[in-house]
This record gives sequence, structure tokens and C-alpha cells, in this order.
Amino acid sequence: MGFIPYGRQTVTEDDIKAVVEVLRSDYLTQGQVGLDFEAGAAKFLHAPYALSCNSATSGLYMAYAALGFGKGDVLWTVPITFVATSNMALALGGEVDFVDIDPQTFCLGIKALEEKLKAAKTKGRLPKIVAPVHFAGQPCDMQALRKLSDEYGFFIVEDASHAFGATYNGSSIGACEFCDIAVFSFHPVKIITTGEGGLVTTRKKDLADKMAAVKSHGVTKDAGVFTKPADGPWVYEQQSLGFNFRMTDFQAALGLSQMKGIEQNIKRRRQVAATYHEQLKGLPIKWQLPIAGADSSWHLFVVTCDDNSQRLGLFNHLRANNIGAQVHYIPVHTQPYYRSLGFVPGMFPCAEDYYSRCVSIPMYHGLKPEEQEYVIKTIRSFF
Ligand SMILES: *Cc1c(COP(=O)(O)O)cnc(C)c1O
Repeated sequence: MGFIPYGRQTVTEDDIKAVVEVLRSDYLTQGQVGLDFEAGAAKFLHAPYALSCNSATSGLYMAYAALGFGKGDVLWTVPITFVATSNMALALGGEVDFVDIDPQTFCLGIKALEEKLKAAKTKGRLPKIVAPVHFAGQPCDMQALRKLSDEYGFFIVEDASHAFGATYNGSSIGACEFCDIAVFSFHPVKIITTGEGGLVTTRKKDLADKMAAVKSHGVTKDAGVFTKPADGPWVYEQQSLGFNFRMTDFQAALGLSQMKGIEQNIKRRRQVAATYHEQLKGLPIKWQLPIAGADSSWHLFVVTCDDNSQRLGLFNHLRANNIGAQVHYIPVHTQPYYRSLGFVPGMFPCAEDYYSRCVSIPMYHGLKPEEQEYVIKTIRSFF
């Protein structure tokens, strides 16, 4: 059996055909296929507005910027995420703090958040944005989060990088029923891929317009919003500072083609999870506890061991048997860069304890039944 990674893309002949078709066309970027991808994603997610971009990292930046986040503002997220969630707040000149995770769901701890908000209110230092992470594809407790956001007045940006195809209370993550903006990633290890790529969704037109400006140089071609009469039909106005965060049309073509298989993709991932739950029962390992109302898209499947040395043993045993175990994630606040900002180990004990015991095992829709069987056999042989 070949190497089995923790996650990987599936690219079909149809996907390749769709990409090649764009490469042979007149528009490699900013053409119809890019618009079709956004429209297709908006439809699938039931999102009024969807904008593609060149990564979830750019998408997070667009989201935070559109909400007016900057110098003097604070963003809160969890330590168990990829560094981009908090980095983009720092890139905008703001500050970052963390909320500990729930030790059972591995997602943002609602109790921890509530306590931290109470304390922050007395200090007059409430966050402008809270960015929950739908860890492994499992939506956070969004109703509880929405209630706290209404009470304390912060915006919610969902880092939904893992959660394309996940639902909460029957509503798609990305429909933004409980948040201001949701951000998705299409990196090859995620649910579907465009190579590099991302997507932001919102229900609010003003936020969509602001994100579009950040994505493309702060430039508009909409004569209706020009500050003065146009000299001619060629005129565009730069009204704010922006970047080039655009996705190419051949990436959009890949995304559009990948989206055709999304139902099967998620169904297969849920099957893989159910098989792990069934076949790993009775071993001294635990896994993510479901949150009420959440239906995961299963980007990752994480198991936790009793302690660090057992985890290291399991990790090495899997690697020695050609299984690409991985650890998600090193708590962000313990990274050297964050240490230089004043964070120290011990600040978020649930996240740190989780990190010392977790391993991600293979989870992707292209995982063959015999491969999963081999993974299960290998884990059982370790114990
Ligand atoms: C992958 C990931 C990102 C970054 O996504 P890119 O598309 O690679 O920029 C951000 N947050 C989380 C939680 C992720 O898993």
C-alpha cells in the first residue's frame, strides 16, 4: 500500500478538462468562469454574496478590513487554528487575544468566551471581532456565539476554512445566518480545491462591496458611485487602498468542477468518520464530541491519546507504516512570533493540553475502504 496522507485532493479528468478549456480561452482571469464559480458557490451555500479570492488568508484580511478593523482594535480567536486567523488581524495593525477551546469539542469554548467578555467589559477592552474556527469541519455553537455578540457588540467572522459543506441547525455554514462574514479555503488538503484559493460570503451588500474593493486595488468601475462625472467610458476610480487578491479563472474552473461532486464528497467523509467511530471503539483514544445542531464536513479526523508520550508513539508508529499522521495545530500563542508579543505557555491550558495529545489520521473523500481498513489495523496494532 502506498503512502496515505492525512488529507489530499481528488482531481478528476473532468476537472482537468475544465481547467484546460479556460487555458485555451481568451480570459485567464476576470472572465465569465470566475463569475460562474462565485454564483455556483453562493447557490450551494445559500449565501446572498460570495466573492472568490486567492487564499483564505486573503479572505480573512478582506473580512477584517471590511469590518473596519485596524489600529486600536482587538480580535479574539482560538489558539487551535492555523496562524492566518490571527495573523491577518495583526497585519491590519490591530491586536489579538485568544479564547481557550472546549476540551471536548476542540472548538471555541463558549464558557471561556463568556467569562473573558465579562472581564474585558470591566476593563473597557472588548473585542471588535471574534473569529470562531469550525475545527475539523464541525461548526461551533453559533447560536450561543450570536447571543453573546448581540450582548457585547462584537462582529463575528467565521474561519470556515474546514467547513465547506458543513451545516448548523440545517443552515449551510456560509449562509451567514449567525455571523457577519464566513471565510473558506480551497487549499488542496481542504474539502474542495482550486490549488490556492478562498471564498468570502456575507448577507450584507456593504460588506461585500468593501471586500471587493480590498480584493482588487480599491478600484471601482461602477459609474454610479464615482465621486465626479466620468471623462469617458474608460474611467475607473480608486477610492480606497487595496490589493490584488483575485483568483484566476482556471482556478475558478477547477473549483466549479470540484463543486459538482460536493454532495458525494461530504457523504464519503461522513462515512469515513462513522467507520472510524465504529472501528476504533474501545481503544484508549478519544475524538471530537459533536456540538448540538452541527453537521461536520469532516476536513480532519483527530484522535487524542492519554498523554504526550503515547501520542508521539502513535504518531511515529503511523509514520513508520506509511501513514501521514499530522498534528493540528501547534497553539498559535506558543509560536515564537506570538511569544515576542507577550504570550506565554500556560495561558490557554485546554488548548495546550489538547495539543500535547492530538493526532490527525487520514480523512478525505478519496480514501479507499481498504486504505481506511489498513489505517484502523495499524492504529489497533499500536495499542
Ligand atoms: C487552511 C487554513 C487557513 C488558511 O487558508 P489558505 O487558503 O491556505 O490561506 C486559515 N485558517 C484555517 C483554520 C485553515 O485551516
